[in-house]
Amino acid sequence: MTEVKKIAVIAGDGIGPEVVNEAIKVMKKTEELFGLRFEFEEGLFGGIAIDEKGTPLPADTLDMCKRADAVLLGAVGGPKWDNNSKELRPETGLLGIRKELGLFSNIRPAVVFDCLMEASTLKPEVLEGTDLIVVRELTGGIYFGEKFRRQGEAGEEAVDTCVYNVTEVERIVRQAFEVAMTRSKRLASVDKANVLETSRLWRETVNRIAPEYPEVELEHVLVDNCAMQLLRRPSSFDVIVTENMFGDILSDEAAMLTGSIGMLSSASLGEGSYGLYEPVHGSAPDIAGKGIANPIATILSVALMYRLTFGYHEAADRIEQAVKQVLDAGHRTGDIAVDPSKAIGTTEMGDLIIAAMASS
Ligand code: NAD
Repeated sequence: MTEVKKIAVIAGDGIGPEVVNEAIKVMKKTEELFGLRFEFEEGLFGGIAIDEKGTPLPADTLDMCKRADAVLLGAVGGPKWDNNSKELRPETGLLGIRKELGLFSNIRPAVVFDCLMEASTLKPEVLEGTDLIVVRELTGGIYFGEKFRRQGEAGEEAVDTCVYNVTEVERIVRQAFEVAMTRSKRLASVDKANVLETSRLWRETVNRIAPEYPEVELEHVLVDNCAMQLLRRPSSFDVIVTENMFGDILSDEAAMLTGSIGMLSSASLGEGSYGLYEPVHGSAPDIAGKGIANPIATILSVALMYRLTFGYHEAADRIEQAVKQVLDAGHRTGDIAVDPSKAIGTTEMGDLIIAAMASS
């Protein structure tokens, strides 16, 4: 009998509950089609938690996440809480949950669907076949190093320190090799080893770990070259692994290849298979409650959860194929529609994907 997997569901604010609802419908369909079993538990998080419990990340929500095998998150935030003090801002809850759950990597796929190529700013012949993942280190590097101002000989100076220890590099690099093993086994490690000492440690560590994964074809790419190659030959990349700041920039660049924020899924992973899965987009307050949000980013986040946390590859394939089938048939939510008058709503998109899963 299939083991029951516990899913902590934190829908959040704005369009969060609308898109998460469709993702859960998809998960329930996979229970029916593949005999998977899930137990869903819901918790408050973000703005709604501030309103109801006085904090963006209530202790019972955190406990629920810690008890679960994986977390499904919608989005948080909105104008109502924008002027709150730091500890009462929904985004503070996001930083807190990542820290508390020990999530040290962020994984973002960038997949170009043939039928949506017109939504990208790049030429179709450049984009064709693009299907890559950026694995970004999330808790170290220059964003977390010591920062200070001082008086120098030429006036005021500012200092940001970039620090990585070998353990931090090893764990993210191993994770990237593992991700590459689930795909076409090509890994590009991105650094600036010609200039930075942290990058030299990074590269040495990658080279030391590489023999553990003899099937993975490894290349080292300098970050400036990677930024260019992502625009010139994006389809040549499979998995890209890099440190925090480079990853921040490159994952946004890669995201733009696909053309629409409503399509982008993401995962934040810690030790082992535990992960938090969420769409890249925010709570979209401008369209919240209208039933028009694109649920695909959240639905594809479920496919990512199936692959990375549970190893349910067949069910993940089915979800991704169903999304492609529905898009190929011309169905679009407003954000990706060429003709907005023909756009469909959130629930309708979810229903079409579920129907396609059953028929393929
Ligand atoms: P956003 O991603 O919410 O919206 C940007 C634009 O994209 C809007 O026009 C929105 O309507 C559109 N959009 C986003 N997702 C969509 C979808 N699924 N379908 C259709 N259209 C979609 O970014 P923002 O407006 O900068 O931020 C709004 C709020 O979300 C802010 O409070 C911000 O702090 C928060 N935010 C949260 C997260 C998160 O929860 N991880 C991430 C980013 C922003």
